[in-house]
Amino acid sequence: MGGFGSGREVTRLCTYECVRVDIRVLAREGALTSTGTFQGGGMVFSGRGLHLGTIRWTVTKDDHPACSIRFEPRSPSYRTTVQSFPIVFTSCTYGGQRPWFQCPWCDRRAAIVYLAAGGFSCRRCAELPYRSQRQTEYDRALDRRDVWRAKFGAPPGFAPFVPVKPPRQHWRTFVADVRRLRDAEQRVGELFVRDSIPLLERLGVKL
Ligand SMILES: [Zn+2]
Repeated sequence: MGGFGSGREVTRLCTYECVRVDIRVLAREGALTSTGTFQGGGMVFSGRGLHLGTIRWTVTKDDHPACSIRFEPRSPSYRTTVQSFPIVFTSCTYGGQRPWFQCPWCDRRAAIVYLAAGGFSCRRCAELPYRSQRQTEYDRALDRRDVWRAKFGAPPGFAPFVPVKPPRQHWRTFVADVRRLRDAEQRVGELFVRDSIPLLERLGVKL
């Protein structure tokens, strides 16, 4: 039974959609060579330092090695995602073996798997337009607003709150963050109005 990761940062990420797990990190931690079950993981941060959530992985190595990845988002507006991958090995030219995740959607080998709307998958599958098909611009604006609300410890949604500056944060950073939050909120409002006008017109409401 391997130990739990020390909660260190897994990787710096650009957006929520880029949450990813690199099998080489697991290999470095000994997850693939130790016997029995190995658990590890850590917190996930965006490029701007937003704490997006926590990733845990569990590697089991019975007859068929497999890795289960669990992403627990910090914001309740995102879903907890769990995905299992078979782990396969290929031989290297100069000896040794190289580990890969096997993508459950397309069976291709991948060193890195990404979180997309349908779960974790290889990059190719993650880039399929799941998200844009399922999510409207308005949904994405809501997500963005909730990410900024979470930065101030506020729950997702419309409920008003007063942003409070963390003790050690510079005023300049705080003011810039508040502005981004307000921009994100404004965008939600604009898109709501834009998307509502055709509906209201159809309903015969005079604008
Ligand atoms: Zn795939």
